[in-house]
Amino acid sequence: MKLEVKNLDYSYGSKPAVDNVSINVREGEFVGLIGPNGSGKSTVLKNIYRALIPDRGEIYIDGEDLLKMSYKESALRMAVVGQENDVPFNFRVEEIVAMGRTPHKKMFDIDTKEDKEIIRHALAHVGMEDMAKRNYLHLSGGEKQRVIIARATAQECDFLVLDEPTNHLDISYQMQIFDFVRHINATVLAAIHDLNMAALYCDRLYILDHGKVRYEGKPEEVLTPEIIKEIYGVDCSIETNPKTGRLNIAFIPDREHGGLGHTKEHTHAWAEPIEHEHNGHRHSHPHPAPGHEHPHTHTDSEGHTYTHTHGGDDHAHAHRE
Ligand code: ADP
Ligand code: MG
Repeated sequence: MKLEVKNLDYSYGSKPAVDNVSINVREGEFVGLIGPNGSGKSTVLKNIYRALIPDRGEIYIDGEDLLKMSYKESALRMAVVGQENDVPFNFRVEEIVAMGRTPHKKMFDIDTKEDKEIIRHALAHVGMEDMAKRNYLHLSGGEKQRVIIARATAQECDFLVLDEPTNHLDISYQMQIFDFVRHINATVLAAIHDLNMAALYCDRLYILDHGKVRYEGKPEEVLTPEIIKEIYGVDCSIETNPKTGRLNIAFIPDREHGGLGHTKEHTHAWAEPIEHEHNGHRHSHPHPAPGHEHPHTHTDSEGHTYTHTHGGDDHAHAHRE
């Protein structure tokens, strides 16, 4: 299975959400789509899984024009784990997973023994086999997500489209799901919001920003401190982890602004001592850490005393004599 997206445009209104995006996923590749919130990741994926119709562009699956296929035929080619996974009725977990079998069936076909086995296996892979009879709508966000992943695997496609598939999951399930997806050797296009997870699992990445592909390449080519700073505005240091052989990104709080909510108007780092002048005398004392502000009392050479506080967060310099 391979995917080619060429010059895709999509606008919700007048503002383009996806602007001339081209993406290739080769057979067996695990490709990540990363980028800040609102950069267009979900919109690209929705155009691929046919929840939206492109304004312009071409999409080919194994060289065949996806936009000319029936929806059922597309569903045989790709399984989707979208971001909004609520269903309108209160199906049982096993019924939701059984929907993954639908594209394989004719109308009114019932589930065969083989289908039931596939459904059971799919639930077991996400640790949900004991919950087959539970009501889907009563599950937690993470459990719902695991059911939807089970449905996608029951669909038995070798191409998976995933939109932040592990969003609600704790770290063990996140890794279990990604490990599983890697293990089945599917071709994958996944929006992943955690850069370390993207570095750990993806063969190649596309970085979107403002609806455009800004960078494309292997994680070690595109996850650099410079590019992360440019796209996300955050400092980081990056090392190759000796155990995984994959990049490890450590984000560095912005000391300049306290890293804790200081805004750009402030002119001094919280670690710097604060100096101020009163009646021609200069005073200096360490800047309190955010949350540790307390009043200071000074007495000057003429015997005047005054108190003031430096808000660790807001840099309030209120003087009172
Ligand atoms: P991402 O998945 O990277 O966070 P999206 O594809 O969801 O980004 O959104 C891209 C842009 O399109 C954003 O500016 C977002 O506000 C806008 N957008 C997304 N969905 C809709 C919608 N249903 N109607 C209008 N604008 C939308
Ligand atoms: Mg999204």
